[in-house]
Amino acid sequence: MNREYTTTLLDNAVNELSRLPGVGRKTALRLALHLLKQDTRVTDALAGALTEMRHGVRYCKMCHNISETDMCPVCSSPVRDPRTVCVVENVKDVILFENTGQYRGLYHVLGGVISPIDGVGPDALEIDSLAQRVAAGGVDEVILALSATMEGETTNFYIFRKLAPYDVKITQLARGVSVGNEIEYTDEITLGRSLLNRTLFSDSFNK
Ligand code: ZN
Repeated sequence: MNREYTTTLLDNAVNELSRLPGVGRKTALRLALHLLKQDTRVTDALAGALTEMRHGVRYCKMCHNISETDMCPVCSSPVRDPRTVCVVENVKDVILFENTGQYRGLYHVLGGVISPIDGVGPDALEIDSLAQRVAAGGVDEVILALSATMEGETTNFYIFRKLAPYDVKITQLARGVSVGNEIEYTDEITLGRSLLNRTLFSDSFNK
């Protein structure tokens, strides 16, 4: 543990803050000193919001999106189209698709992509549960919306083969757009357009 400051309490706060992604010790110290200047109600509200989020948020039983209930608001919405399921890598991608305002179907959050180098095999992802959803019937189309990386492509093909026994259309976003790891390069308008212009997945390798 790093101990650099005049109080253990500040040491502890800086140590915890510096665990956050993109937050170095300098930034952590700046944030901690900023919080020290605030009214205690401000810091109580921050700590409370974080604790409540961590304890209160769970994962939707259907799509594995974050939720406060067993089924997330998207899955339980009567106006969403349950016949279309968009497969994404993570919760961040769901937020991105929702922000396009163009998508009325449901989601399936894989929790990553197949990556042998990182030791992530298909069993570590929500692929079996996707196949079960499709096998249960009622799904007409599965949209693959993963990163345009080698790992994303590998995962696309794995899912394509896994869903081959079922009578379901498999599509992908229009070319040139990728989400997942490259999410920050995709704006909402481009993503919305590529969703509307999606193509059959099998066309990508039959040519
Ligand atoms: Zn859900």
